[in-house]
Amino acid sequence: MIAGATNAEVPVGTPFEYRVGMGEKVSEIDVRSALESGDWGFMHSFTTGSAVDGPGVRVVGWLTGCQFRCVFCHNPDTWKLSNGMPVTVERAVEQVKRYRHSLKTMRGGLTISGGEPLMQHRFVLKLFDGVRAAGIHTTLETNGYLGARLTDDDLQRIDLVMLGLKAFDPALHRELTGVENAPVHEFARRLAAKKRPAWVRFVVVPGWTDNIDEAGRMADFVAGLGNVERVDVLPFHQMGRFKWERLGMEYRMRDAVAPSAEIVQKIAGRFREAGLKTI
Ligand code: SF4
Repeated sequence: MIAGATNAEVPVGTPFEYRVGMGEKVSEIDVRSALESGDWGFMHSFTTGSAVDGPGVRVVGWLTGCQFRCVFCHNPDTWKLSNGMPVTVERAVEQVKRYRHSLKTMRGGLTISGGEPLMQHRFVLKLFDGVRAAGIHTTLETNGYLGARLTDDDLQRIDLVMLGLKAFDPALHRELTGVENAPVHEFARRLAAKKRPAWVRFVVVPGWTDNIDEAGRMADFVAGLGNVERVDVLPFHQMGRFKWERLGMEYRMRDAVAPSAEIVQKIAGRFREAGLKTI
């Protein structure tokens, strides 16, 4: 057993629960060995019965660690790896397999999200291998920035990729997330070239991505890929505000109002005009 880890189960709840410090007793050496081997990882929680995180009804595993700093992030407590609970891959697989019959009946599966799951890509791949062996469908929700960590063979071990595209304009993306979007686009193109099934998620962020020009450029890019089966156009919401406050971080979206249904529909309509299916 790793020092600082317990044999407890990963908490079951929602990503909107505030969790910090669950893995802070783990030494740096053990963190490094976890990232290298994938034998164990850091998790915020599991959510069961989600109908919005991939096909059918799903179990969602929320991992900690993210290299983006999105100004609108709903889960900033997942940024820090050590805020997650250290768990062995066997334990996590066991926890998901418990739901395999209902997941099958409801045509769902396991979605791994975060945070950014590819910060812990080896753990994700081992977790997916474990549940796929039990016939469970796997979906990776990612911002795509670390997509180069996945080999072509790894891509075959993931049934569906849900790619969160934050902004198309490079300068806007940098300001919105703190990082470049070129590696994200490269990963999107690679998924397309390998004909891997993908869904796209686009959050309408007031004052940032709620304009039709930006959405239009994104829609044309996504439509040109040819492998995107569906686009989820999602309105920004304020459910994560309390986390920013509790973490004592400056929240630039503190006074932002969620975009109207009309704006969200207009942007979704632009994706449809480009030939894409939206919800
Ligand atoms: S990629 Fe997701 S988890 Fe990371 S900062 Fe952005 S919204 Fe938050």
